[in-house]
Amino acid sequence: MGYDTENIFAKIIRGEAPAFKVYEDDYSLAFMDVMPQVDGHTLVIPKDNAENLLDVDAEILGATAQTVQKVARAVKEAFAAPGIMIAQLNGSAAGQTVFHLHFHIMPRFAGLEFKMHAREMEDFAKLESYAAKIREHL
Ligand code: AMP
Repeated sequence: MGYDTENIFAKIIRGEAPAFKVYEDDYSLAFMDVMPQVDGHTLVIPKDNAENLLDVDAEILGATAQTVQKVARAVKEAFAAPGIMIAQLNGSAAGQTVFHLHFHIMPRFAGLEFKMHAREMEDFAKLESYAAKIREHL
């Protein structure tokens, strides 16, 4: 099975589905995870038809990694987080649920657990305010 161009992140890239956008350039896009595991949970995706890390073009991966670093720095500052976790899942056996390559950026605080993966929809006003807060630090 090849890349499914109707997946939700492909729709977000094409502007066919809404997103709380944080950052965008020619190669990549960052937006808030709508079912966050922690406050500030942000996703970075390449603007390319890649299902996961194993099949993405190396140059596009490089550009996307630079966006991950840029946005992770901004998330760290915006949430005054002592730690930042980057997660990236490949294949349903690894827990991947959206089959367009993405990196999770999650602020972490010692002793503060994170919520279950992709379970509870966050309040949209909160997500918009978090996106604005992160943009201020870019
Ligand atoms: P993964 O399980 O690594 O494939 O992660 C997919 C992530 O996408 C989960 O954390 C979901 O909460 C998140 N997600 C699913 N749909 C959307 C959406 N429309 N906008 C933003 N995040 C989403």
